[in-house]
Amino acid sequence: MNQLSSPINQIKGVGPKRAETLESLGIHTIYDLLTYYPFRYDDIQEKTLDEIQDQEKVVLKGTVLAEPVVNYYGFKKSRLIFRMMTEQAVINVTFFNQPFLKSKIHASEEIAIYGKWDGKRKALTGMKILATQDEEEDFSPIYHVNKKIKQKTLVDLIRSSWDLYGNDMEENLPTWLLEKYRLMPKKQASYAMHFPDSVEENRLARRRLAFEEFFLFQVKMIQLKNQETRKELGKSILYDVDKLKAFIQTLPFELTTAQKRVVNEICADLRNEAHMHRLLQGDVGSGKTIVAAIALYAVVSVGYQGALMVPTEILAEQHMESLLSLFDPEEVKLALLTSSTKQAKRREILADLASGELDILIGTHSLIQEEVQFSNLGLVITDEQHRFGVNQRKLLREKGDNPDVLFMTATPIPRTLAITAYGEMDVSVIDELPAGRIPIETRWILPKQIDSVLTWMTSQLKAGQQAYVICPLIEESEMLDVKNATEIYEHLQQFFEPNFKVGLLHGKMKAQEKETIMDDFKENKTQILVSTTVIEVGVNVPNASMMMIMDADRFGLAQLHQLRGRVGRGSIASYCILVASPKSDQGKERMKIMTETTDGFVLSEKDLEMRGPGDFFGAKQSGIPEFKVGDMVADAPILETARLEAITLWNQEDWSLQPENQILVKSLKEREKESEFLD
Ligand code: ADP
Ligand code: MG
Repeated sequence: MNQLSSPINQIKGVGPKRAETLESLGIHTIYDLLTYYPFRYDDIQEKTLDEIQDQEKVVLKGTVLAEPVVNYYGFKKSRLIFRMMTEQAVINVTFFNQPFLKSKIHASEEIAIYGKWDGKRKALTGMKILATQDEEEDFSPIYHVNKKIKQKTLVDLIRSSWDLYGNDMEENLPTWLLEKYRLMPKKQASYAMHFPDSVEENRLARRRLAFEEFFLFQVKMIQLKNQETRKELGKSILYDVDKLKAFIQTLPFELTTAQKRVVNEICADLRNEAHMHRLLQGDVGSGKTIVAAIALYAVVSVGYQGALMVPTEILAEQHMESLLSLFDPEEVKLALLTSSTKQAKRREILADLASGELDILIGTHSLIQEEVQFSNLGLVITDEQHRFGVNQRKLLREKGDNPDVLFMTATPIPRTLAITAYGEMDVSVIDELPAGRIPIETRWILPKQIDSVLTWMTSQLKAGQQAYVICPLIEESEMLDVKNATEIYEHLQQFFEPNFKVGLLHGKMKAQEKETIMDDFKENKTQILVSTTVIEVGVNVPNASMMMIMDADRFGLAQLHQLRGRVGRGSIASYCILVASPKSDQGKERMKIMTETTDGFVLSEKDLEMRGPGDFFGAKQSGIPEFKVGDMVADAPILETARLEAITLWNQEDWSLQPENQILVKSLKEREKESEFLD
């Protein structure tokens, strides 16, 4: 890429020290510097009074009516006040602790002030006086910097580098695409990100660069998907259709229409020569386990092995139980492998697995250890897949000769994220709950109302129901979690025992202990289970119809939804009580949303809106790319357009041979070198 790919120390005036500072900002090459865009702009647009929101930062212009008055109070504290006449009204302007400004403010002179608008008092709290003529000040870019470099230094460096190297900036999108969407040329757009002539030019620049990022990214994703599903990798698993149908007949219920549809999609993938790489999305309680069981049965019916990996031991045990109850033990041999599997048992399992004696292995991360060897692995399923890193998922696949892969997730993923984070997968969605479920009723109460809720609970317990009480998650320390849970446990024991029994479950317990406690709850030996979030995923006790979540505002929407999904699994009306006195508006908003909807997709869209894509999964490992300019939420329409364009391109078989697309072939090659791009 000509001079632009040279390291930054090639720039005149950038010595080793400065180069190091720039490196720490992720700027390695001249190109990186030229495309180190501002993360926001101080959009200090002049506005009129009726356009302004309360607490908004604005520029107001007007005439000073009288000389300002300065009042001093307290130590070094002062308040400078004057009245200003704007086009609409006379307003008060106050500057705190800047008495020296008095010399700059003169009666009957025109003035422009940047400040915060107080809508109630109809007054402006001034932050800065602007020169009335100064146009450049109106829209100033703000860059991420660190202690070692100032905004101004960086801006100067970017400007001088643009003068020197800007001409080397090449177009990287084909002309037909630029014309079709009237996209600004790369060079102009890049420059206008730093030094826009107008707000409009800057907007068009962002649009162009966001399109470029989204488009190149998605072409790349399709390329990956094609690689993942290509024929050479796959195997055609010609399962026994009759056997499979007979198996489905033995299930205790009729599949929902959505379950039937996804079973068909998965089975078609299995038969197909292409390699399966599919994501199965379904809200909590939508019945994914049974779909997994059917897929595993299909594979096993013709002599392949299957693996099911889950994030927690409790969940692994529960899956083991469900599958044991579904399969004929003579026909399908199952085993459970976790970190608490005893050595002797473990050796036996590994031997049976290698000899082909075992058909299905269920387990936690233990499945990806080196000693675990399958004889003929045909299908790998990971449940709650977002809990696993990309590498862990890959390691499991490598246990076999490219087994088909099914990822399952109960976190409904907003469409925009699904496109970007899972763009390389096929997606199946179970968008319907089994018939007869009654929507969970959710209430938000304050801590002081707890005892009246406990009294209400008593009446439900008397009718034979059971309850979960979920303790807050205290991120700093698992010990605190346990202490907290123990205190709540003791309080509830005092309240309910001896009439009802209370159990306690937390992450510090041994696996054996956890299992006993879960079993007691399942068998209704305990009626109330106090638990930390270890029960978050997958636990299934249909007789539990009440859940009380303490300090509910400490949880994100997605997690609250997961937790709540533990009730409402039977045919009785279920309740979720959120106990919280949130301080932040966001916290209050979350509580409110939870009481308004039980639809996981609605919640996930809200969650994404409130937290942004980075925090959505609560983990960096989610595989969501970080875009420099594009914002997956705000720029969703651009993302969608770019996606359709990428698909259309890919569907033209010879696109990469066309002369007009050579520029694209080159850009994609260059992207390959960029380290931050996928893993
Ligand atoms: P999830 O998708 O959250 O993993 P599960 O697979 O645990 O959900 O299913 C939730 C509950 O619904 C289980 O008790 C399961 O037996 C039941 N279930 C699944 N499919 C159906 C169906 N088609 N009709 C009735 N109940 C079903
Ligand atoms: Mg599940």
